[in-house]
Amino acid sequence: MISNSLVELDRQHLIHPLSSFRGHERDGVRVIQSAKGATLTDVMGHRLLDGFAGLWCVNAGYGQESIVEAAAEQMRRLPYATGYFDLGSEPAIRLASQLAERAPGDLDHVYFTLGGSDAVDSTVRFIRYYNHARGMPEKDQFISLAQGFHGSSTVGAGLTALPGFHAGFGVPFDWQHKISSHYVYRNPVGPDPDAIIAASLAELRAKVDELGAERVAAFYAEPIQGSGGVLVPPPGWMKAMAEACRELEILFVVDEVITGFGRTGPIFASSEEDIVPDFITVAKGLTSGYAPLGAVLMADHVYQVIAEGAGDGLIGHGYTYSGHPVSAAVGLEVLRLYDDGLLENGRRAGERLMAGLHGLADHPLVGDVRGRGMLAAVELVTDKAAKTPLPAASQPSKRIFDRAYRNGLIIRAFGNGGLGFAPPLCCSLGEIDEMVERARRVLDETL
Ligand code: PLP
Repeated sequence: MISNSLVELDRQHLIHPLSSFRGHERDGVRVIQSAKGATLTDVMGHRLLDGFAGLWCVNAGYGQESIVEAAAEQMRRLPYATGYFDLGSEPAIRLASQLAERAPGDLDHVYFTLGGSDAVDSTVRFIRYYNHARGMPEKDQFISLAQGFHGSSTVGAGLTALPGFHAGFGVPFDWQHKISSHYVYRNPVGPDPDAIIAASLAELRAKVDELGAERVAAFYAEPIQGSGGVLVPPPGWMKAMAEACRELEILFVVDEVITGFGRTGPIFASSEEDIVPDFITVAKGLTSGYAPLGAVLMADHVYQVIAEGAGDGLIGHGYTYSGHPVSAAVGLEVLRLYDDGLLENGRRAGERLMAGLHGLADHPLVGDVRGRGMLAAVELVTDKAAKTPLPAASQPSKRIFDRAYRNGLIIRAFGNGGLGFAPPLCCSLGEIDEMVERARRVLDETL
């Protein structure tokens, strides 16, 4: 049997990302064979609705022929071109220009990476370089949010606050600091938006005071905290934090690796609050997952300081695959699809998703429903009044993921048993309804 031998080969040789090695040896892999639109088929022939767009990335859905064609055509013509030696390729140049055109304010400069983690790493390196260039090398401390996720590379993981990404690694992160998340459902100051914003501002100011403003380089935040459980800040939170950063003279980096490219509606979620950060990081929806690509969007005022500081000297930060022409060609076609109705479809489907999930609020296990557009979560509790989480010892995330799979649905099952949704933006309203229906069955089986 092909599937049995694959499972065995996988067990013996393939290390999976974010996995328990022993747990994986015991439970094995489910091999996905093919996909079309929002439907996956595994090697056993099971059909599944992908309520998570792979890993919050396949925004255009699977089997989009025009993307496949763009990649194949680019591979035929020029499969690789380095950006070193002042060389370049047309797709990378055009994609950089299109991103700059769509980005807010003076975010005019684009540095390509392979994904989100190295985009975050690159911001750290560029910010340090920037501060050296302007004669302030001691400004080398970074602040981010509890429950935040900024990647899994050595530097990006430092800004990530999820404990699982630190436990057991022992990498010293004495240059990075955390302040509390806005987490509306469980905020110690209560759910009032003004109180939450005031508390976040006070914590940021206190942290900068504690470290010394002359030592703090930047503050990082996601417009909606994704991996932390889809935590949506109160309206006005991002704007207030952006203004505080300006006032404190620290850079504001907005990590849009999940929220970018229509996930919450517009191309950049931060534009919903009309802010212009100093950096935006993107990946995932940039190519809709069809090819690896991330990017750093850098504000002109930062770029000019770095450029001036380096003069004719090389700035020693570069990847072999920066601006890979095949990934960039894919990105260009994906951007065209967003304009050609995909963003619009995602907006309609997102309204339906949020309405459907709010319809689950009466379920005895549902403590909170939150999200924006095609990015949502349902948080589960055993006691609604006390907001008691599902007991971690019962491994709720694994059980819920398995139940969803058996019901023909892929969702993200968060550590505390919450359900995360990020369907492809191409979903029909019928597919969204079906996802919500299957999620209700999962909840019923979890009672
Ligand atoms: N930043 C955020 C907000 C993310 O959600 C992720 C991944 O999920 C990353 C960075 C890291 O991206 P990648 O997995 O492409 O390295």
